[in-house]
Amino acid sequence: MANATGMALRQVRKSYGSTDVIHGIDLDVAAGEFVVFVGPSGCGKSTLLRMIAGLEEVTDGEISIGGRDVTDLDPSQRGIAMVFQSYALYPHMSVRDNLGFGLKMANTPKAEVDTRVAAAAKILKIEPLLERRPGQLSGGQRQRVAIGRAIVRKPDVFLFDEPLSNLDAELRVSMRIEIARLHKELGNTMIYVTHDQTEAMTLADKIVVLRDGRIEQVGTPREVYEHPGNIFVAGFIGSPKMNFIEGTAAEGGVAFAGRTIALGYTPAEPGTAVTIGIRPEHIEVSETGESTFSVSVDFSEYLGGTQYLYATLPDGQSLTIEHRETTEIFKNDTILVSCDTRLIKVFSATGHHLGR
Ligand code: ADP
Repeated sequence: MANATGMALRQVRKSYGSTDVIHGIDLDVAAGEFVVFVGPSGCGKSTLLRMIAGLEEVTDGEISIGGRDVTDLDPSQRGIAMVFQSYALYPHMSVRDNLGFGLKMANTPKAEVDTRVAAAAKILKIEPLLERRPGQLSGGQRQRVAIGRAIVRKPDVFLFDEPLSNLDAELRVSMRIEIARLHKELGNTMIYVTHDQTEAMTLADKIVVLRDGRIEQVGTPREVYEHPGNIFVAGFIGSPKMNFIEGTAAEGGVAFAGRTIALGYTPAEPGTAVTIGIRPEHIEVSETGESTFSVSVDFSEYLGGTQYLYATLPDGQSLTIEHRETTEIFKNDTILVSCDTRLIKVFSATGHHLGR
């Protein structure tokens, strides 16, 4: 493990004029951890990352890397390297020169530059491309070079700002795996910003879900998926999105769509309005079960291994179902569905998770 360095943010704030965009973030990042900041566009992910990088001034609070207060240090003094969405390669330079340029500018001896460039090229499997220019590379190869430029600097911490957003869907998946492999191989602390919950789920040791400049939840992918603390996180993590159904709390469960479902606990004062959260993948097409509903299928999407059914409950509320069986279900079919009641979530009117 090289250079594994932890990080801490204490009450970090950012305002642009009178507009507060980051409202006091506290976060600990363990040495060698892969942390993903995820949230909708405008939630402050990039601003937070740029403050860690030193590209954006901190309005208030403290950032430390490896136990050293870096809040007022220049980016070059922080031991970080950043990879951006736009590769920003020099078009007239070869890949080799692009990789070595930063080191050369820092007066690194040529032999050392050559060694580091060769090592980075090997890690990223771009050795055959070293003499090409960026214009002769695919998008994925260019992004590899951009990552290579970060690797040659031997930073303590890697910062990634939506690095895969410019790539097509297939390349995004393969580069995602490359980045995971890179993390495993280098062992560095990495902070990665994305609006894509799949990227967050697949890459992160720790996910930080942000909304409007605040942390909504911090946890492992499994924690945020299985135990979302509120309705925002529940709706943001998971695809297709969790179903939210309006209902009421009942003695020992919840009532919705004309039925009472036993949950084994009373989530709130019976009769209180609540939102019931059920993930599409937790609903089965089944004639049996404690929580069987008849639904009508409005339309369906056939994806091969799975089928998404967009259905309506007896009370008119919508329900998305992920159907993984081979039997195809068609539009206008009426089917019986049930779900595992242990996986049902209940949220208060203010969006807080209630109960277990
Ligand atoms: P994200 O990366 O999550 O999409 P950003 O960090 O880019 O979000 O932006 C967070 C908020 O800060 C947004 O509301 C954005 O409009 C605002 N913002 C970002 N940069 C500036 C700026 N230079 N001046 C004023 N507001 C800004």
